[in-house]
Amino acid sequence: MRYLSTRGNNVSAKFTDILLGGLMDDGGLALPESYPVVSRDNLASWRHLDYRGLAFEIMRLYADDIPEGDLRKIVDRTYTACAFGSDDIAPVRRLQDGVHILGLSSGPTLAFKDMAMQLLGNLFEYALTKSRRQLNILGATSGDTGSSAEYAMRGKSGIRVFMLSPHRKMSPFQTAQMFSLQDPNIFNIAVRGVFDDCQDIVKAVSNDLAFKARFHIGTVNSINWARVVAQVVYYFKAYFAVTKSDDQPVSFAVPTGNFGNICAGHIARCMGLPIKHLILATNENDVLDEFFRTGVYRARPADQVRQTSSPSMDISKASNFERFVYDLTGRDAARVRQLWQQLDRNGAFDLSRTAYFSRIEDFGFVSGSSTHQDRLETIRRVYRDHGQIIDTHTADGIKVGLERREQGVPLICLETALAAKFSDVIVEALGRKPDVPPGLENLEHQPQRFTVLDPDVIAVKDFIEHNCGR
Ligand SMILES: *Cc1c(COP(=O)(O)O)cnc(C)c1O
Repeated sequence: MRYLSTRGNNVSAKFTDILLGGLMDDGGLALPESYPVVSRDNLASWRHLDYRGLAFEIMRLYADDIPEGDLRKIVDRTYTACAFGSDDIAPVRRLQDGVHILGLSSGPTLAFKDMAMQLLGNLFEYALTKSRRQLNILGATSGDTGSSAEYAMRGKSGIRVFMLSPHRKMSPFQTAQMFSLQDPNIFNIAVRGVFDDCQDIVKAVSNDLAFKARFHIGTVNSINWARVVAQVVYYFKAYFAVTKSDDQPVSFAVPTGNFGNICAGHIARCMGLPIKHLILATNENDVLDEFFRTGVYRARPADQVRQTSSPSMDISKASNFERFVYDLTGRDAARVRQLWQQLDRNGAFDLSRTAYFSRIEDFGFVSGSSTHQDRLETIRRVYRDHGQIIDTHTADGIKVGLERREQGVPLICLETALAAKFSDVIVEALGRKPDVPPGLENLEHQPQRFTVLDPDVIAVKDFIEHNCGR
């Protein structure tokens, strides 16, 4: 399997070449030269595999430069009952007739990002050990991504994590999740400022190419290809869980921010999984819903991003969206380059009067958005009718999924976090707190390990230099 860039540079890299990287040299994103097609026979033989078996079969199509024995060990070590709460790894439960919830939030940080990030941690360690290299991951987080990365990289040899977060601005639960980690390779830096200050520092450090090279600085953001492909697995897993034959169509409802999760659904569909609709759900930050309804992609300036009660979907632009547009244009890299130039210049591009726009249907996408009020109502309805407490992001997906579903086609709604992470909104909706999973009741009372720094690039660089043990 060879990888290329959505902007057309003919790089022809292998999986492990792009594993540790972010953007490609030409500013594009990595994609395989073609998606492997899964036949009905393949589907039939995969139907009875457990999660590890399925993950191995899918990953090996894309990571064919990792010896199969090694890959199988990495996958087996990742998807354990110990890390994900049960051997099912991603359990599917019934909500009502024809509507199911795919649980993706039983990993260590109670959000779906663990599904891919846990694998990424083991893949990184494998690749770095093999090449005798080190990696210092630098990131900025307002919650989910940072903790997921820390739990994936803790204790891994050759890897350190320097994670910036806005001092005293995350929820107590999220803060405790990150700051209670005592692993010597995890460094929590609480920046006296807001999330954008953290983000700016990461950019400034990454733009200092000499520093970046000298200290082996890398990232784990959502454009990482290995993360996207690891998420393809659970679309297959859920498909097998709700169907009896290998030609029955299903639809998925996906709460969306950076288009990572639903991009994996798009790839599963391109591989031949019988997906009728990919139902994309946004919150009030509806950049993507707007595109799929109107054909206009309009990135929002930072000051127009609303802070909502599904905060992990509060985005100004969707960093993985370029992958879909590449496929939508029939893999026309010149066109993609031109569209993203337009985006940089004018903040928007418009496909409404092009043939591409009518092809969106062929790709199975439909979309919708929801508001804070919708989330409260959906959380109440699901609790009243089914006795289940869902989180706010999952509520966005269920609300839009139920609106856009078709009779006779099973609907699978992706559960992207557990309610315990967002207990304030649950109290607002239901007048009670959500249950905290066993073992985490005491999390907020654990000793915390973090360093407070001013929003100052030099201070952060000094901290990295001081702690990276060269
Ligand atoms: C990150 C996240 C999302 C959005 O996922 P994307 O891959 O960015 O679309 C949705 N819900 C939760 C809980 C998340 O943490």
